Amino acid sequence: MTDLQIKQALILCYFTTENLDTIDDKTFGEAVTAAQTSGGIAVDGIAGAETVAMLSERVRSIQMNLNKAGNNCPIDGLPGPLTDQAVKAFQHQNGLIEDGMVGTLTESALNQTAISNALFNPDEQVTEHFNMREFQCECGGRYCNGFPVAVNRILIEKLEMVRQFLDIPLVISSGVRCEELNREVGGVWDSYHKLGRAADVLVYESNGYRVDDVADAGEKFGLKTIRYYDQRFVHFQYND
Ligand SMILES: [Zn+2]
Ligand SMILES: [Zn+2]
Repeated sequence: MTDLQIKQALILCYFTTENLDTIDDKTFGEAVTAAQTSGGIAVDGIAGAETVAMLSERVRSIQMNLNKAGNNCPIDGLPGPLTDQAVKAFQHQNGLIEDGMVGTLTESALNQTAISNALFNPDEQVTEHFNMREFQCECGGRYCNGFPVAVNRILIEKLEMVRQFLDIPLVISSGVRCEELNREVGGVWDSYHKLGRAADVLVYESNGYRVDDVADAGEKFGLKTIRYYDQRFVHFQYND
């Protein structure tokens, strides 16, 4: 690590909250001391080999969790613009202050997301006819990683029942939405799409069904509906 990277690592790992351009020798020494204390290594306030190795390990572990949370930064143990961007993007997605520092709040949110994502497989075939990917956020990675929330499984199971009852393919035009996409498409602020509990299904009259037929089938299986006659789609949501 260069001197600059050591300073960046100290900031990233929240051992100092100073800006890069305002870190003076005194703040630097204090941050190194804090890092050494936290890492359980010899405390002398000087960034020697052991301290650098410890910082690098911390940065690497942050980078790994950022990627598990859906970001794409290098896992090299070196702080830099890509890691900084990934931290800020993660903070933005989670409603945290976008300061690029992994303090207590960011760290616990990051750990939680990494753990729950490990249990969530975007390529899972959930039911006979529905794959998780069909429900991913349509922002195409502009604002989120596709699954800012998990899709409600009961919603998918009920859609499968509708699909089998009507015996026609159901095309999902909108599943999960991140905050930004929901705003962009003019969704209501409390949209169930943001909760992973709603899906819009296109209606092709060539299949022999109209909007009402498709919506009625959903209600039969306990889904709430909004019927869009002009745009020919049905909004299904699962409330309970
Ligand atoms: Zn999105
Ligand atoms: Zn909808």
